[in-house]
Parts: sequence; structure tokens; C-alpha cells
Amino acid sequence: MILSLVAAALAAAQTAAPQPFADAVTPPGETRADTAETPATTGGWTLLVHGGAGTIRRDRITAEQDADYRAAIDAALMAGRAVLAKGGSALDAVQAAVELMEDDPLFNAGRGAVFTHDRTNELDAAIMDGRTRAAGAVARLTTSRHPVAVARAVLRDGRHVMLTGADADRFGADRGVEQMDPAWFATPHRREQIDEFLRREAGAKAVSSYDIDQKFGTVGAVARDARGHLAAATSTGGLTGKRWGRIGDAPIIGAGTYADDRACAVSATGAGEYFIRVGVAHEICARVRLAGESLQQAADAVMAEVLALGGSGGVIVAGPDGRSAFSFNTEGMYRGRLTSDGVHEVAIYNDE
Ligand code: ASP
Repeated sequence: MILSLVAAALAAAQTAAPQPFADAVTPPGETRADTAETPATTGGWTLLVHGGAGTIRRDRITAEQDADYRAAIDAALMAGRAVLAKGGSALDAVQAAVELMEDDPLFNAGRGAVFTHDRTNELDAAIMDGRTRAAGAVARLTTSRHPVAVARAVLRDGRHVMLTGADADRFGADRGVEQMDPAWFATPHRREQIDEFLRREAGAKAVSSYDIDQKFGTVGAVARDARGHLAAATSTGGLTGKRWGRIGDAPIIGAGTYADDRACAVSATGAGEYFIRVGVAHEICARVRLAGESLQQAADAVMAEVLALGGSGGVIVAGPDGRSAFSFNTEGMYRGRLTSDGVHEVAIYNDE
């Protein structure tokens, strides 16, 4: 079923070469007109989302959980479609899809984020516009309901690319991003996970942050809008038991998030340290742009590098010609794809 949908999508994909774009340079402090695009009159759109990758096996997931995850991924696709189908920008679409998943306690982003070693929730996010390569990233937020919205405000402001901590929350608050009591982000399931993590640590001394769940619940979206522009966004609570102010790959531009109209848009999930060391998202785009690899070839090759270093996870990738790819080296990745050509897929396991 999915294979035939993919075949249909490939057949329908536009074959036109990527159009070079003029890099818009915005003077420091000047607001970027990043939402000022007029509705498109031609071209199709593509949207991919993920809700994390890892040890996601049928025998570990109940039928109800399976259905809940699929419904949540589908809801994120619909949020992005609401923007793209009326000619909206890829940037608005990825933000809308990610905000929806940030509110969903199923995912390790926004509400439902994993706990740090100090039993707090610290949130990281990034968003990037492939049209201008403008980017915004935030790390260690504790009160902003939608970290991706703060990242978007950083992008729009244009003076800096990355803000951290309470100052970043304040920056978001000043620009209208809803602020919550930190307790709002905490869920009983994530409390159980940190309790288990700290119990194991007390017993065995060395416990890997990756052992608790063996599942990464970061969320992300990539899109190509009807005007041919790309965007990527990623949001996460990071890793259970993280400490010392640890920041993962999600908000690192070029590691967990990247978009360049000349190549592709990428959002990643997985063992962040490896994704930072490999520079996963930029590396995929560089292979596409400079070596002429297909999205799938580039994504698979870079994920193989992550694996070779000992890391695991996955990526979603969208290209300027409407093509797209998933690549992951885990047993599953919560993922979905929707296009104006009628492709509509939601999948979890690696054999789907
Ligand atoms: N990549 C994230 C991090 O390392 C974790 C995840 O994907 O869930 O912070």
C-alpha cells in the first residue's frame, strides 16, 4: 500500500532542477518579512513529520498506543496541511505541525518532555528557513509553551541565532509566546522514567541516558511549500537524566535541524551527541548540493556514519523538487508524509 503510494509520489514528483535563490540579508535587528509571502499559484507541496525514533517494536506497544501515536502524527500532518494547502509558507507549516506535537504529552517535546537529572524539564528547539537560511534556536527553556515559537521569534528578530535559558523564555514572553508554570510540562510517565533512571544510577553507578526508554521522542517537521521553498523545525526535551546544562542536537543548526532551498530541509531525532559530531543535517544537505546525491542516498550515508560512531536515530528530509525521504537505523520511527499529489502515509515500524 505504502509502496504504491510512494511509487505514485515519485512518478508525480516534479523533475525541475532546484532554482537558485537570492540570499536575503536582513540588517541586524530589522524584522524579517518571513510570513509576507503571497499565496502560491503554481507548484505542489510536501510535508513530513516525525515524533522520534528508537526501539519501537510491535511487541512493546499496545494496539491502543499504536493507534494513539498514528492519530497524533496524522494530526500534525493536518496542522501543516492547513497552512500549505492554502498557499502558506513552509516555515509556517513546520511551526504549526511542531506546535501541535509540543502540546501532545505522547512526545518528548513541550508538554511531556523528559526530566533532567535535577527533575526539571528543559526544552530545546530550532527552526530554519531554506529560502534565506535565516535560523532561530533556543535551548534550556522552562516556561515557554511552544519552544518552536520562541525559535521562530529569534529567527524573525534576526540579530542572533541561538538564545538559552530564562533569558530566552523572557525573549519569547516579550514577543507573545505563551508562558506556563514549569509544572505544566511534567507528566506522570516521564516522572516514572526519571525515577527509574536515578534508581539505576544509584545502583549501578553508570547508566546511559539512552537506556531508559531506548526511544527518542523528539518531534520535527520539514516542508516544501507551493512556491518551492523549504523549511525545517525540531523540538525536544532532550534526554532523560541530562545534566550540567546539556544541550542536544535539535537546536544546533546543522546538526538536528537545517534547511537550504538549494539542497534540502532536514529534521533529526536520536542520540544527539552523535548527530552533533557528524553535523547530520548540514552534512545531508551538503552531499545533495555538492555531490549530487539523491535525498535518500545522502540521508542513508550520513545515518550510516552516525551508526558507525555508535549512535542511532533517524531523519526526515524534503527537497526543492518535491521529493522526500525518511532514513533511520532503529526499529521504528513515528513518521508521516503528506503531499498535494495525494500521498498520505503514517507509519511507525521499520517494515512499513
Ligand atoms: N535528539 C534529541 C537530543 O539528543 C533526543 C531525541 O531525539 O529525542 O536531545
